[in-house]
Amino acid sequence: MSPVGRPLRPRGKLLQEDARRHHRSLLLQQLFREGPASRADLARTTGLTRVTVSDLVGELVADGLVEELGAPATARVGKPPTLVGLAPDATHIVALDLSADDRMSGAVVNLAGEVRARHQLEIGEARGDDAVALVHRLATELIAMTDRPVLGVGVGSPGVVDAAGTVVDAPNFAWSDTPLATSLATALGVPVFVANDANTAVLGEHTFGQTGDGGLMVLRVGIGVGAGLVLEGSLLHGHLAAAGEVGHVTVEPGGDVCACGRRGCLETILAAPRLRRRLAEPGADREAVLTEVGERLGATLAPVVGTLNIQELVLSGPTELLDGPLREAADRVIRERTMPVSSAGLAVRTSTLGDDVVLFGAAVLVLSGELGVS
Ligand SMILES: [Zn+2]
Repeated sequence: MSPVGRPLRPRGKLLQEDARRHHRSLLLQQLFREGPASRADLARTTGLTRVTVSDLVGELVADGLVEELGAPATARVGKPPTLVGLAPDATHIVALDLSADDRMSGAVVNLAGEVRARHQLEIGEARGDDAVALVHRLATELIAMTDRPVLGVGVGSPGVVDAAGTVVDAPNFAWSDTPLATSLATALGVPVFVANDANTAVLGEHTFGQTGDGGLMVLRVGIGVGAGLVLEGSLLHGHLAAAGEVGHVTVEPGGDVCACGRRGCLETILAAPRLRRRLAEPGADREAVLTEVGERLGATLAPVVGTLNIQELVLSGPTELLDGPLREAADRVIRERTMPVSSAGLAVRTSTLGDDVVLFGAAVLVLSGELGVS
C-alpha cells in the first residue's frame, strides 16, 4: 500500500480484530519515532493491551525487525523493564533520486535512515526505454551492495506520477504512461514505490527533517520548480495527482517560454539554471536579483499560505541561491500579504537534508508502504 490517501503516521487506538497489521504499525511507529521502549510503555502509548503488545513484539522479534535491548542503564527500584527497539539493519531500503538533470543517484538506507552505501549513474543521452533501463541498472547494482534483505525500492521521479507508480508524463526522460513501479517490481522481485520528486522531498523532510505536524510545504528548486505538501498528516495528491505544480503559475504574463510551453511561469524566473544565467549577466546586482525573485516567490505563495495556514515552508535546492536575500524577501512578502494569524507561526527555511531530501523521501515511501511508519 502506498502512502496515498491515508494518514502518514498511524495514531490512536484501533481495536478491530482484523487490524493486526495496524497494530504492528503502531508499535513500529512508536519505536521508529521515539526509540527503544519497554512493553509496558508501548502498551500505554499505543492504547493496545499488554497481552497484544507482548504477542506482537514476540512476532516482530521473530521477524528480526525488533530486538531485545536488555534493561536501561538508569537503575530503578525493583526489577527494571526490558527495552525493545527497532533493529535498524534487519532489512535495508534502496532509494533512488531521479530528479537531477545529469545523473541518477541512489543509496542503500537502513531503517533508522542511515546511508549504508551510495551509487550513481550518468544519464547522458538516455531517454525513453534507455532511461528506464538505467533505473533498473541502478536499482540492481544497489541491491548487490547490501548483504541484508531488501524491504523495497523507493523512487523519486520527475513528472506527474500516479498512485500505482506509473509516470504519467516526464518530459525530461520522454516518459509517457511509463509503468516504472510495475516494471521494477517484476524485474527485482521486491515491492517498489514511485512518486513525484517534490512529493518524495516533502516526505523526506516530514520524516527526517525535524518538522512538526502543523502543515509542511517543500518547494523544490532545480532544473524545474515544484512543490509537495503534507497537510493534517497526509500527503496531498490533488484530483489528478498534480497538486503542488505551483512552478507553472504565471507570474509574468508574456514572459519567457517555460518547459510546459506557456510563458512567464514561476519556473522561468526561479529554476536554478535560469536564475544562474541571470546572475551571470554582465552588471547583474546579485542581491537585487535574488531579492526581486524572492519577492515574486512570496507574492505567489502568499495565497497558498493564507489558504492553508501551513506551519513550515521549506526551500529545497541550491543553498547559495535560496538561503539569503531570496528566502528573506519571500518570507517578508508572505507576511506583508497575509493576515498575522496566517503567518505568525510560519517558518520559512531551507532544508536541513540538503541534496539528500529526495533520497530520504524515497526511503520513506518504502518505510510507509511496507511497515506503516514515517
Ligand atoms: Zn510552465
